[in-house]
Amino acid sequence: MDLFEEMKSKGHEQILFCSDVASGLSAIIAIHSTRLGPALGGCRMWAYPSFDSALTDALRLSKGMTYKAAIAGLALGGGKSVIVGDPRKDRTSARMIAFARHVASLGGRYIVAEDVGITVADIELFRTITPYVAGFSKDAGGTGDPSPATAQGVFFGMQACMEEVYGDRSFQDKKIAIQGMGKVGLALAKLLSEAGAHLIVSDMDPEKVAIACREFNGDPVHPHEIYRVNCDIFAPCALGGILNDRTVPALSCKIVAGSANNQLAQAEVAALLQKRGILYAPDYVINAGGLIHISCKQDAGIMIEKIYSRLKEIFRLAKTKSLLPSEAADKMAEEILCAAGKIS
Ligand code: NAD
Repeated sequence: MDLFEEMKSKGHEQILFCSDVASGLSAIIAIHSTRLGPALGGCRMWAYPSFDSALTDALRLSKGMTYKAAIAGLALGGGKSVIVGDPRKDRTSARMIAFARHVASLGGRYIVAEDVGITVADIELFRTITPYVAGFSKDAGGTGDPSPATAQGVFFGMQACMEEVYGDRSFQDKKIAIQGMGKVGLALAKLLSEAGAHLIVSDMDPEKVAIACREFNGDPVHPHEIYRVNCDIFAPCALGGILNDRTVPALSCKIVAGSANNQLAQAEVAALLQKRGILYAPDYVINAGGLIHISCKQDAGIMIEKIYSRLKEIFRLAKTKSLLPSEAADKMAEEILCAAGKIS
């Protein structure tokens, strides 16, 4: 990968490669843009199979954060960090502290928050080293886990999708297949089951599936089978890149709407979804609830609710300009960044 070319083509400002021999830390902090404000974005800990896959994730995720903040109307830029390692085996205090020191070295250009593999306890530990941390616990005066707010935003976004497809936003008796019963997936399952939806659930972790089945009356399916489930909405709430030329032909749903970042393996997959008559809710629009929650001191609830109207606007723009919803969302975000004179 020619890194400078890659940075130029995607518009990244800075990449910090972080190492600490003593603790075994290998991490990447990617700052896509600080033009609208400091680059806020989660830290993900994952057992990446290669350096390239970790870097690609950091680059894609950080760009998504710039667009997410812009379209949500926040004075924030976009960044993301990845720590290479299995969170179940490789999470040590020394490694987390070493990572936080690298965040501190950026002097506030990057603000770290939670993502897959990182817990509120990790965030608390980061805070002992650097003030550039968001989403810390309520007990310590922070906003706490953003996942319920993300789930709430996805719920509002799903309503916009339902109106678009069925002309009615009611979830009563609708079938919704959720991939990933983690922090967001479980919170979303609660909201949807309370709204009368029938849930089909999957996770790599059988214990999480058991919770969803017990508490929300979900029907379990094997992780490989979730794509084939006949349903109204398929909600990806696990990892990114899961919509590709292998999975999209298998889908048997009317809507794809979920919290996972970077759901499309490649931008072209959005056209494949449209061809199959499946409405796609652009991920960085529908999953902005958590970012809004951790960055807005006031009116976060109102702003999260606006995810509904923003998606309606995107679907309208897509129709009038003959664009895919993902293209319409990008256009809207880029116009916001351009209006601020701030996109390269
Ligand atoms: P999490 O780590 O709590 O949950 C992810 C779950 O997905 C885990 O239970 C994991 O076992 C499961 N999983 C992984 N691969 C799977 C597969 N192939 N099939 C089924 N299950 C699988 O993470 P989370 O905080 O719930 O976030 C979920 C997604 O939403 C991520 O992509 C994250 O980036 C995105 N997101 C989260 C937030 C937030 O507020 N937490 C905000 C915006 C976006």
